[in-house]
Amino acid sequence: MSETTDTHANATFEQIGEVLRSHQSFVLISHVRPDGDAIGSQLALGFSLKAMGKSVRLINEDGLPENLAFLPGSEFIESPPAGPLDVEVAIALDTATKPRLGDAALHAASKAKLWLNIDHHISNPKYGDLNLIDATSPATGEILYDLITALDLPLPDETRDAIYVAVSTDTGSFQYPSTTARTYEMAADLVRRGLDVGTINSLTYDENPYRRLELMRALLNTLERSPDGIVAHWELREETRLDLALRPEDSEGLIDVIRAIRGVRLAVFFEELPDGKVRVSMRSKDRELDVCKIASAFGGGGHALAAGIRMKGPLDEAKALVLTAIRERVEETRKQS
Ligand code: AMP
Ligand code: MN
Ligand code: MN
Repeated sequence: MSETTDTHANATFEQIGEVLRSHQSFVLISHVRPDGDAIGSQLALGFSLKAMGKSVRLINEDGLPENLAFLPGSEFIESPPAGPLDVEVAIALDTATKPRLGDAALHAASKAKLWLNIDHHISNPKYGDLNLIDATSPATGEILYDLITALDLPLPDETRDAIYVAVSTDTGSFQYPSTTARTYEMAADLVRRGLDVGTINSLTYDENPYRRLELMRALLNTLERSPDGIVAHWELREETRLDLALRPEDSEGLIDVIRAIRGVRLAVFFEELPDGKVRVSMRSKDRELDVCKIASAFGGGGHALAAGIRMKGPLDEAKALVLTAIRERVEETRKQS
């Protein structure tokens, strides 16, 4: 099988390295509603490229979330400018499908001649000219660490801290089963390179705005569990979002609270969005209950144990559809066992 003719083959690190070295201008983009891995990956590769003397723009459709503003260099994350940027290469990071980059960000990158797609979502259809998709990697940040160290590219402090936060947030603080010996070795190497573990963890996890706790209280009031205790879900309505003056990032990671209930195998969070659509966030505790498969049936995607959907509202209808699909899947796994 020749790599040049198979569009579904991954590019090698060397091929990616060749693109990075032989071009001068880059735009790095990540998904809407960015999380730590999205922003962390942009900063990690962005600062490595900057240290190589490249011209780099870091664009996110929704800008920089407040909870990640502590990351060194995060002030370089911009909302999309009105017109297309004059850049040679666009690099999509941590983004399962091209539309998840957002319309304005895609417009900003529309003059790029070459697209790189670096990600760890199993559902990624490889929409780049060159793709580096590793679904076994717990975070895009870890793929970038492998790439940067294998190619001996610069690893400045901004890159070091961003990689750590990208991987820490996508692994639930190095806890999910996607965490491997390699992940810990990477973390050890970052610490050896001067990363301040106590400070960075504290900035990542101990700086919750009070309204996030008020949100948790509101969510707990909507908590429900299936009679067999296997599925737990809660929901956020527009009204609560407005009442508490919530920001999109305020709900990030709260789903882990219901995922952690004994007996629960699948946790779901339903959120009414300002545009009337519904965001569904799912977490599973076992690979038999593959939430990426359930999400894919509704046009969403992600990983086996963490996936999401953006679907048509209203919330009650979306909820009924998704909970029915989940119930069917739970019954199937029960028959199999
Ligand atoms: P979240 O629940 O938003 O934290 O997302 C869980 C995982 O699923 C993340 O890796 C997301 O990138 C991915 N994901 C979330 N929503 C979607 C979607 N609408 N389409 C594809 N992937 C998604
Ligand atoms: Mn992400
Ligand atoms: Mn990720």
